[in-house]
Amino acid sequence: MSDKTIFEMIIDREIPADIVHEDDLCICFRDINPQAPIHLLVVPKKRIVRIAEASPEDQATLGHLLLTAKLVAEKEGFAKDGFRTVFNNGPNGGEEVPHLHLHVLAGRQMLWPPG
Ligand code: IMP
Repeated sequence: MSDKTIFEMIIDREIPADIVHEDDLCICFRDINPQAPIHLLVVPKKRIVRIAEASPEDQATLGHLLLTAKLVAEKEGFAKDGFRTVFNNGPNGGEEVPHLHLHVLAGRQMLWPPG
């Protein structure tokens, strides 16, 4: 696998991030280029590159990312108003950082279909 991604550097505290949650399996921090008033990224500490490369052994980690989205939505106070969760996957999915991450967007009405 290639060199460390920017997200691994955040996990290892080599570059700063506005961290809102961390546990044994994942870290959650604010996106540096927010696409909504609230834009968080939930990132597994294990480097799974993308959903298409996840394996059955990653099942608990993948589920944990979604439950963490729920946790931070409650903690940050936007669970009631609603929010969007997104995994970008591969080139057509718009994935730029090759380290799986769950986008959590909130604070405005989301549109459908997404761009
Ligand atoms: P992707 O397009 O789904 O791969 O999303 C990558 C996301 O990471 C983008 O929304 C970027 O704004 C975000 N991002 C890139 N570098 C950083 C950083 O250093 N801190 C926080 N977010 C970042």
